[in-house]
Amino acid sequence: MEAPDFKEFAKAMTDYIAEYLENIRDRQVVPSVKPGYPRPLVPEQAPQQPEPWTAVMADIERVVMSGVTHWHSPRFHAYFPTANSYPAIVADMLSGAIACIGFTWIASPACTELEVVMLDWLGQMLGLPEEFLARSGGEAGGVIQGTASEATLVALLGAKSRMMQRVKEQHPEWSDTDILSKLVGYCNKQAHSSVERAGLLGGVRLKSLQPDGQRRLRGDTLRDAIDEDIRNGLIPFYVVATLGTTSSCTFDALDEIGDVCLSHGIWLHVDAAYAGSAFICPEYRYLMKGVEKADSFNFNPHKWMLVNFDCSAMWLKQPRWIVDAFNVDPLYLKHDQQGLAPDYRHWQIPLGRRFRALKLWFVLRLYGVENLQKHIRKQIALAHLFEKLCTSDDRFELFEEVTMGLVCFKLKGSNEINEELLRRINGRGKIHLVPSKIDDVYFLRLAICSRFSEESDIHIPWEEIKSSADEVLKSQKK
Ligand SMILES: *Cc1c(COP(=O)(O)O)cnc(C)c1O
Repeated sequence: MEAPDFKEFAKAMTDYIAEYLENIRDRQVVPSVKPGYPRPLVPEQAPQQPEPWTAVMADIERVVMSGVTHWHSPRFHAYFPTANSYPAIVADMLSGAIACIGFTWIASPACTELEVVMLDWLGQMLGLPEEFLARSGGEAGGVIQGTASEATLVALLGAKSRMMQRVKEQHPEWSDTDILSKLVGYCNKQAHSSVERAGLLGGVRLKSLQPDGQRRLRGDTLRDAIDEDIRNGLIPFYVVATLGTTSSCTFDALDEIGDVCLSHGIWLHVDAAYAGSAFICPEYRYLMKGVEKADSFNFNPHKWMLVNFDCSAMWLKQPRWIVDAFNVDPLYLKHDQQGLAPDYRHWQIPLGRRFRALKLWFVLRLYGVENLQKHIRKQIALAHLFEKLCTSDDRFELFEEVTMGLVCFKLKGSNEINEELLRRINGRGKIHLVPSKIDDVYFLRLAICSRFSEESDIHIPWEEIKSSADEVLKSQKK
């Protein structure tokens, strides 16, 4: 394909995308296809001769859209939102055109430099302390990781190398294996599964601690666990505090946890994957009180801040523990400006990295902080609207206080009734929800996901849920 065809193809695709997104409400939110569905729809082998782009365009509905789950439909209320906006889509086009691999500064200076500046912009928007930002003049700064899971693992590896070095200074006679076998980290039992996975990948013990009655990890619980482990000869090195758990969006007591970590010299990582975006609104920053006590902080603009996947923002006060610990410097990656700007390959697990700062730059400029705040506030208001509908029907109860764009609710009664309720709701095919279970209580989660959602879109799931409940309760009586 050469430029004239590309221009036509891209213009046609732009029209298609705008049509798709503006009319997404009318599509069936989850497709009714079966595994293997495209086989009969596409040829057995790749074509030997090139086809015209119009042939590909003509197959998109038939082959692709028939099997797409429409995450940006206002009928989609599962999981958490994933971001989507026109500026980010266009930025991805430009990123695709430049198509650089920004592993070192010289590999594409703009790719690194714009990322440094964007993470400073973003950090200030959230009200992060200056000690996290590159503009503070020290080593600190932000980096775009692919996902929150990677950020949790990278922080764990940094924490591990920091503690290894400290312990070796105190006990030069201990071997690496001696020390490694003693390391222990902690998180809330309600932390995301990626935290447990980071422990497995990092080869260290991670303990999940029991939260309080409001499902928050508290400082005292952490302190007791640490004291006991120290008595038993273990070495606490890492704590993950979750701001906005995935199951029910609760917030660990960061301020208390921070004090415990500071008093023991333990690395504190904050996982605010979903809820972190809300901190661009000052009225929600009380939920991150104590953030100055953390060593690293992470949230996903690709969840709730209109920057398309993947864009997970992470800040480190002391990146040296990651940069130095995993520094392998083959000759072909050395350059003259080394040390003057970050070589982001040292801050992450892969070598290659895309030019993702463009998405942030486009979105922040074309929305402005004000409109991003509006987006967050509107989605939280929609969650409260659903909460109101739900609590106005005394057959239902909330499972968790609503603070962000997630409502956790259930029919009063058994898990089985609620499982049946969800089966009916999803079976009707009009909306899509997923459940969760905490302490053996099964509940439904309704997340406000689509940026197209309006008040009228919130009455639809409520009507669906209400009439499904009618059916379930009626069949129970029989
Ligand atoms: C969604 C989520 C994650 C995982 O995010 P990825 O970017 O997909 O790795 C981690 N932690 C919390 C609290 C989440 O809600």
